[in-house]
Amino acid sequence: MNVREAVLTVDETQMSFLEQGPSLIERAARTATVATADADGVDRDARFPRKAFDAAREQKLLGVMIPVEFGGFGASIYDVTDICYTLGRACASTAMIYAMHTTKVACVIRHGHGIPWMETMMRRVARDQWLLASSTTEGQNGGNIRASAAAVDHAGDTVSLVRDATVISYGAEADGLVTIARRATEAAASDQVLLALAKDDYSLKQTQGWETLGMRGTCSTGFELKVDCPADRVFPEAYDKIHAQTMTPFAHLCWSSAWAGIAAASVTRAQAFVRKAARSSGGQMPPAAAHFTAAKMSLAKLRALISANLDAFARAEHDERALSSLDFQSSITLLKVQASELAVETVMHAMRTAGLSGYRNDGEFTMGRHLRDVLSSPIMINNDRILANAATSTLMSGIPASLRD
Ligand SMILES: Cc1cc2nc3c(=O)[nH]c(=O)nc-3n(C[C@H](O)[C@H](O)[C@H](O)COP(=O)(O)OP(=O)(O)OC[C@H]3O[C@@H](n4cnc5c(N)ncnc54)[C@H](O)[C@@H]3O)c2cc1C
Repeated sequence: MNVREAVLTVDETQMSFLEQGPSLIERAARTATVATADADGVDRDARFPRKAFDAAREQKLLGVMIPVEFGGFGASIYDVTDICYTLGRACASTAMIYAMHTTKVACVIRHGHGIPWMETMMRRVARDQWLLASSTTEGQNGGNIRASAAAVDHAGDTVSLVRDATVISYGAEADGLVTIARRATEAAASDQVLLALAKDDYSLKQTQGWETLGMRGTCSTGFELKVDCPADRVFPEAYDKIHAQTMTPFAHLCWSSAWAGIAAASVTRAQAFVRKAARSSGGQMPPAAAHFTAAKMSLAKLRALISANLDAFARAEHDERALSSLDFQSSITLLKVQASELAVETVMHAMRTAGLSGYRNDGEFTMGRHLRDVLSSPIMINNDRILANAATSTLMSGIPASLRD
């Protein structure tokens, strides 16, 4: 159900919110305006994009995907990825934080129905605009999400967990956290569960800073994560199922949309550069104008790739078998690899279009921030790791017999 369809079933308050208030994309645009104005400062100071998130909260963006019955607007995957793209054009860190939050919210929505704690969490995200962070990367395991070292320790109605969380983006700012862990102390590394935690359920002790090339506003510092909470914070479904059905599709679609937004922002700058250069030389194109055409072509490829995967997910969204199929899993996994490479390629072409004006850190055509931000994309779950893991399944998935199937 998309936002417009949701209007048909919402209660009166929500009805007036959506009907009399601005549309979802208008709300995203308002947030993006605030994010744009603060983007250079967020990047320079490596600080959380607080102004953008104040605006996002004011526009109720953090809870749009929550089902209507729990106080949200039942926004679709198309809606939330559009928001990621819009924010990505404004401030990469804001977009990536929103993309990560959305992925965690999707896990709670899709695997928390009928579970009182998870439903409370949905209500808090919608009503109080809770921001949810993510902890998957751990100690020496790095980005190997399908294996956990830290284990959940069960004691009666409570559980505890201590995790060497190498990176938790906006961990210090979040109202809650979604983390993976080994099911129990005696369980195998791949026997994992997912926990959805409120801030009161855990404590964080900073272990590492975040002094990076780009995505500086995500404030992805390292923490020792200590959890002590009621046992109902653990999802009953095994993580491998949640991973395939929700975590991977949402992460890859939302991240890719945020990266496409960064790419689009750089192409917009490159276009402005070419126009200005042509105007000031009697209509003659600058020497690197061909890079602009290349940037537009790779952006078109990137958008088409995301669109195809969005449609594939929307078709299979409620069909467990289709989501688990080799073809779907292979496509959605490789989306991340392809989208990140295309996003980097697009920004590189955009920067080369503008030559020195793009390379320098000052001036209206600078691409430095875009390039540094987008360079995080191939390593955010390292492409090489994904490709090494995907080799067998790629070999086994079929070659389509017709063009559009
Ligand atoms: C912008 C951004 C935001 C992120 N946000 C989050 C988040 O919110 N939560 C989260 O859980 N993760 C987050 N990550 C981490 C991400 O999910 C991946 O885990 C990470 O990008 C993998 O990076 P990698 O290239 O080191 O690859 P890996 O797949 O981790 O491979 C690196 C390998 O090298 C080894 N290694 C790494 N460093 C060292 C070292 N110093 N000495 C010896 N061996 C080493 C590791 O053990 C591992 O085997 C974020 C990453 C980025 C870029």
